[in-house]
Amino acid sequence: MLPDDDLTYAKGLGPQRAQLLSRELGLRTAFDLSRHFPSNYMDRSQVWRIADFQGEMPRVLVRGRFIAFSTHGEGAKTRYVGLLTDGSGTIEVVWFKQITKIRQMYVTGREYTVFGKPDLFNGRWSMVHPEVEESGEGRAESVEGTEKIHEDVSLLSALDSGLSPGLAARGIYPLTEKLYQRGVSSRILSLAIKNLLERVRFPETLPQDVLAMNGLMEVNQALRCIHFPTDGKSLEAARLRFKFEELFYAQIGILRYAAARQGATRGMKFDKIGRWFNTFYRDFLPFPLTGAQKRVLHEIRADMNTGAQMNRLLQGDVGSGKTLVALMTMLIALDNDAQAVIMAPTEILAQQHHQTLTQMVGAMGVNVRLLTGSTPKRERDTVARELASGQLHILVGTHALLEDWVEFRNLGVAVIDEQHRFGVAQRARLWAKNSTAPHVLVMTATPIPRTLAMTVYGDLKVSVIDELPPGRKPIKTILTYGEKRFQTYQAIGRELNKGRQAYIVYPLVKENEKLDLLSLQEGYDDVCEAFHGVEVAFVHGQMKPREKDAQMERFVSGKARILVATTVIEVGVNVPNATVMLIENAERFGLSQLHQLRGRVGRGGDQSYCLLSTKYQIGKDTRQRLELMTQTTDGFVIAEADMRMRGPGDISGTQQSGVPLDFKIANLATDGRIVAMARRAAEGVLGADPALAAVEHAIIPRRLAALRRATDWGKIS
Ligand code: ADP
Ligand code: MG
Repeated sequence: MLPDDDLTYAKGLGPQRAQLLSRELGLRTAFDLSRHFPSNYMDRSQVWRIADFQGEMPRVLVRGRFIAFSTHGEGAKTRYVGLLTDGSGTIEVVWFKQITKIRQMYVTGREYTVFGKPDLFNGRWSMVHPEVEESGEGRAESVEGTEKIHEDVSLLSALDSGLSPGLAARGIYPLTEKLYQRGVSSRILSLAIKNLLERVRFPETLPQDVLAMNGLMEVNQALRCIHFPTDGKSLEAARLRFKFEELFYAQIGILRYAAARQGATRGMKFDKIGRWFNTFYRDFLPFPLTGAQKRVLHEIRADMNTGAQMNRLLQGDVGSGKTLVALMTMLIALDNDAQAVIMAPTEILAQQHHQTLTQMVGAMGVNVRLLTGSTPKRERDTVARELASGQLHILVGTHALLEDWVEFRNLGVAVIDEQHRFGVAQRARLWAKNSTAPHVLVMTATPIPRTLAMTVYGDLKVSVIDELPPGRKPIKTILTYGEKRFQTYQAIGRELNKGRQAYIVYPLVKENEKLDLLSLQEGYDDVCEAFHGVEVAFVHGQMKPREKDAQMERFVSGKARILVATTVIEVGVNVPNATVMLIENAERFGLSQLHQLRGRVGRGGDQSYCLLSTKYQIGKDTRQRLELMTQTTDGFVIAEADMRMRGPGDISGTQQSGVPLDFKIANLATDGRIVAMARRAAEGVLGADPALAAVEHAIIPRRLAALRRATDWGKIS
């Protein structure tokens, strides 16, 4: 059999199962199946005695018979319990899902091998949804359920269980419900893969020099080790090899894309720092720059002076002073006889920027104008005229900036604030506004862990403002409970009595928009009743923009003292007088999102508070997550934790990047070291052989072509 042969011909599968594997998991060829890696391992070398269970247990294997089965609870809470004995003791095996099927599958009296993590619960040992197989010759079944087991948990337990040398552990494979129902178990896959590895010699998929330089395991050995590990060390080496491979090709893809684009887009060379920048710096700077602001400005200046187009991502926590950096970047454009534009995701934000910038540089003669959807015709005409003549220096606006009639005399810098609201296509339309592509500075307050940034924004250089202006009081974050609403409202009342303003945020759970709005409406009514006589503004995403802006305006102006809102306020709004935020059902938000929301308070000199409200009964993980929020205000710490807990795909700001983050085996959250290693290797290869024309690199274009079928690198920016 050859690597590219259809699985239909694989020994131990047969046409029907092959078809199922293709439909359910996209595995078509021998190669595909060989790369379907176990998500966990069953170490068959060590059978535990139930009597020996003690303390915190790893996943273990026991062999025994069921004495009795029983059903408990009702509806969604039904659980099916089998009492299993191995002669030394008993353990409860518990199922919450697929009960109907499980009922038919296991019988009392027969011997089974059970693999799972024992937990002590109310003085009894139990295992939830373990892997169960009939011992001996009988038919084998896998009951691992349908979810992918988290990769790194699996590695840990494989290593923890101390696979003994010489005795192969068997892989447990990610399966789907359908496969499982049709009897395609881990055991069957394992057998089929064993046959494959015996019959097929797989060609190496990484260049030899890369393997050698990084000390990586050769492919056939790695395949054997990852499917049938004999010890933890070689398993780890095999996993490293495949993780590296995935990340290496991702990096090659990104770097080549970046290089192609860099070559195609000539940039303007800004080599002058002159009147505008210097005057501002000397006479108008409202406060000394922080060290981080200075460093970032240096990076930006250097970038714009290379003759190539700048593409830089500026990350800085909420309140870190990105606007000032943006302004000074734009002043450099002015000094080089070019214009600048700053684009914000909402009308309110655009207005705020316009106001701030006018305050800072209006007096020194910089001409700043605002353009949004609601700009009147007369003002539009002025904007058009002054843009064309070059009289207009800085244009602030929303999407309206992208309209065709907006034509610059010479656009030098485009700043895009809170980037994740803007698609790549929209950004490209901004560049198209000049014959030479303007420099682009993308700003975001959603921190992206470095490894992720390296992958998602492979072609953007990253600057980080990692220092807040002096004198900020860290926001105090407090966990509270729905049951204590009265006290929570009292705390808000105290801030209102001091003349401050408050946010009250409700989550939207997209399952049912109507119901969501209803609960938001109820929340609003509650708040109005509890704070009788206080003006309350109200915004949500389903409102018409005009209506939303009107409500926001009531709050921004201070007329309304409380703003009841959904996450639409997440981005950018600056009301320094707001000192308290209550987030209802906080457990429904991701950490990064909570962090974003929380950044709306603590923007003035006063002590600010963030109250996270949940039900009293919450899970351990949820409590841990929320407690992290009470312990740190460092956006990067929070982003890292968020990515570890939820996986990189859910982190806001990455969804639209177009990069497939669902690596098969690599995990951006935990494999930072391997990302960096792959990055270096990819840079090394491309540095020496940019066209990938060398014989020893011939495998790279071939693999890239195969991978490209699944990935469109062109979508990345
Ligand atoms: P963000 O990075 O969230 O966009 P802003 O640019 O809105 O932050 O800045 C937040 C606040 O900090 C603003 O009121 C701004 O005037 C102030 N600020 C910015 N830089 C400094 C500095 N170097 N020293 C003191 N205050 C600063
Ligand atoms: Mg900002």
